[in-house]
Amino acid sequence: MRKAYKFRLYPTQKQEYKLFWILARCRELYNAALSERKDAYTYAGKSISYYEQKRDLPEIKTEIREEYQDIYSQVLQDVLLRLKRAFDAFFRRIENGEKPGYPRFQGRNRYNSFTYPQAGGFSLTHDSRVCFSKIGSIKVKLHREIQGTIKTATVKHEAGQWYVIFSCEVEQPEPLPIVESEVGIDLGVTHFAALSDGTFIQSPRYYRKVQKKLEKLQQALSKKKRGSHRRKKAVHAVAKAHRRIANQRRDFHHKQAKKLVQEYQTIVFEELEISNISKRAKPKQDENGKYLPNGASAKSGLNKSILDAGWGQFQQIVSHKAACAGRTVLFVNPHYTSQRCSQCGTVRKKSLDERWHSCECGAELDRDTNAAINILGVGRTQRGATCVEAPSF
Ligand SMILES: [Zn+2]
Repeated sequence: MRKAYKFRLYPTQKQEYKLFWILARCRELYNAALSERKDAYTYAGKSISYYEQKRDLPEIKTEIREEYQDIYSQVLQDVLLRLKRAFDAFFRRIENGEKPGYPRFQGRNRYNSFTYPQAGGFSLTHDSRVCFSKIGSIKVKLHREIQGTIKTATVKHEAGQWYVIFSCEVEQPEPLPIVESEVGIDLGVTHFAALSDGTFIQSPRYYRKVQKKLEKLQQALSKKKRGSHRRKKAVHAVAKAHRRIANQRRDFHHKQAKKLVQEYQTIVFEELEISNISKRAKPKQDENGKYLPNGASAKSGLNKSILDAGWGQFQQIVSHKAACAGRTVLFVNPHYTSQRCSQCGTVRKKSLDERWHSCECGAELDRDTNAAINILGVGRTQRGATCVEAPSF
């Protein structure tokens, strides 16, 4: 099983210069190789393979562009391999009857990484530095422990900062001991999640907090002149804020997922159709170009909460952890789970702002808890029949 670790790199000014230089050469090679493939096909009707292009590399280095000798050879080979993968994907999609875009030439802002595909080209030293062949040793911040064997290292420039991403081969962890418990989970807006045992996982509110800051940054960005240095800086600041939110959210998801998987043998979720809910209502304009009220702002509040919660990512993380631990995750049809009484089965329509489930049978409980119990119930009856079961081993 592969696992990726991303760490911040702190190159010196001189090293950063070299990193940019390598990036530029790699992008140049990528575009040249793409152009060769394209021309060969257009003018001669033949296709050129990765191996043919790879065979030309030594000659390029000795006769055409000697400066390529200052780049580790496997890094250059990996550039050609990336192009090969782009073409493989392109042809695969054509075979599947899709209409893919032809592999694209890479602009300066799109091509932002290069890879050392084998451990021989780089090494991690004990004093927190990564030694890259033909670059030197760069300081790295190892903020978490690496598990498994490091296979490849990718150097990436992202929002003004440098990172190394190690791809590691890790052993399949031992399955957790089997427990008898099961849980239904209702993911929501009021709480991040309601569990069928009556407990809740509260939503982290960091997004709203950082949102204010983000809005300010975005405003500042809109005032900067296109192509200016200041604009570039503002773009980085915005990207950085987004990245911070995403990281915090992922951390939160991992922590909660770990708890659930440790505690429950079977976890039942509703199938999500987030794409419908989170679509933003388009603002309407009248003939004079004035905006008409159409509930767009109200909806964006709900959107925010939904995106905030990032349900899809959470379900993915839970499924992944569960599969590794020998647990089961089920997804059930969400119909009526919030309308039906979990105790007597009576279906009664509720509006979205009705937060409490109160039934003639005497049932009194939180709306979302009621839904979670129903989700678990559907999971139990459908088990092994119509629901999708995550692989367990
Ligand atoms: Zn009832």
